[in-house]
Amino acid sequence: MEINLPKGTHDVILDEARAYDRIETVFKAAADLYGFNEMRTPVIEHTELFVRSVGDSSDIVRKEMYTFKDKGDRSITLRPELTAGIMRSIVNNKLYATQDLPLKAYYVGPAFRYERPQLGRYRQFNQFGVEAVGVTSPYSDAEVIMLGFNALKMLGFEDITLKINTLGDEASRNNYRVALKEYFAHHLEGMCEDCKVRYEVNPLRILDCKVPEDQKIVEGAPKMSNYLSPEAKDRFDAILALLDAFSVPYEIDENLVRGLDYYSHVVFEYHYTTKKGVNVGAMGAGGHYDNLISDLGGPALSGVGFACGIERVYALLKDDELLVDTKETTDFYVMPMGEEALQDGFMVGAALRAAGYRTEVCLENKNFKTMFKRAERKGSRFAIIIGDDEIKTETVTMKNMATQEQFKVAYGDLIAKADELFDLEDEEHHHHHEE
Ligand code: ATP
Ligand code: MG
Repeated sequence: MEINLPKGTHDVILDEARAYDRIETVFKAAADLYGFNEMRTPVIEHTELFVRSVGDSSDIVRKEMYTFKDKGDRSITLRPELTAGIMRSIVNNKLYATQDLPLKAYYVGPAFRYERPQLGRYRQFNQFGVEAVGVTSPYSDAEVIMLGFNALKMLGFEDITLKINTLGDEASRNNYRVALKEYFAHHLEGMCEDCKVRYEVNPLRILDCKVPEDQKIVEGAPKMSNYLSPEAKDRFDAILALLDAFSVPYEIDENLVRGLDYYSHVVFEYHYTTKKGVNVGAMGAGGHYDNLISDLGGPALSGVGFACGIERVYALLKDDELLVDTKETTDFYVMPMGEEALQDGFMVGAALRAAGYRTEVCLENKNFKTMFKRAERKGSRFAIIIGDDEIKTETVTMKNMATQEQFKVAYGDLIAKADELFDLEDEEHHHHHEE
């Protein structure tokens, strides 16, 4: 009996795996450009970590976590996001004391949420994200927002919509919550069950409700901008001015509150709609936080970060045919004609690989046509044919797969010839062969 995938999970294979690798490589290159270093933290953490950071009023902690007791009776949770683990690690390792501030970390890896699966929404998915911790300047917020924007541009997206809002400081939010409670008190009757809970634990959460009828009610709700303290407003304006100065387009969305409890001040999301009109919700999202490090037992350091969903980025790039270099390629495909030739073919393959050429040797006894088809499917640049004549004369027949041009190369000249061929191609295509 075949065993199926758990609901909400997916295999990443073949071209898709190559695309994921490329997406992650571009994200890492962007983060590297801004001076961020990689951090890798465990997939499992103590449940308490997420309750304290993501927050018990969030949907994630309330109903989406994969939580279980391990054999030692500890409550363990599969991370629903990666920021909390990064913050825990910063505190545990006292990085704030030994490293220069801001600490700039990036991460990539799987996250787990028990959600209703749909397009761009999985139960196991991958996030790439960055965190800058330890400077309070709005420049740091702007830098992180711009990093995400540029990374998505480097991936090939144009017309990214940056939605942005401010949640203000604690005083602003407290005033705003009172106003929201007053407003929603008159509407609560007709709203969804979740909103009734949100009303009690954190009325800000109601602005994030995805139920269409509730969204209509949200439209009439008081606006955060009317409850901002002057300092909080100045801070937001400073960030917007920096985005303006660097021509980063944005849309202010006053209902943008984000699903995690730890944010304060600026919050933002990156959106994109494909030419066919596909929209998977936010490709990435983030914001500024003030109490995350101190809530986990560290000093009072604020930070800013975002996370992008690799699955959503992939789906959008694919829909707009923006995925490049995802086909398999090899440099050489060695075709031994018959059992006898395999020994020499195997040797030739080993020699080419030792010289850094990506080489596949056909290890089965197949006819020429079959092997040639395989060479094509492998995306080989050259086929190397070894038959009885070739063994006798210790030469191979090389075939340029693109031009069909054929020529003989002595065993002893093979590497020199490969170097020559790939140098030539480099000049023609301005593309460097990886050595
Ligand atoms: P949404 O409002 O779409 O549920 P979120 O507020 O839960 O998103 P975050 O927790 O901030 O999102 O996660 C950051 C990014 O991770 C999202 O913008 C999205 O690209 C991705 N993401 C979140 N949940 C999922 C999921 N279940 N499957 C795939 N990607 C996800
Ligand atoms: Mg969510």
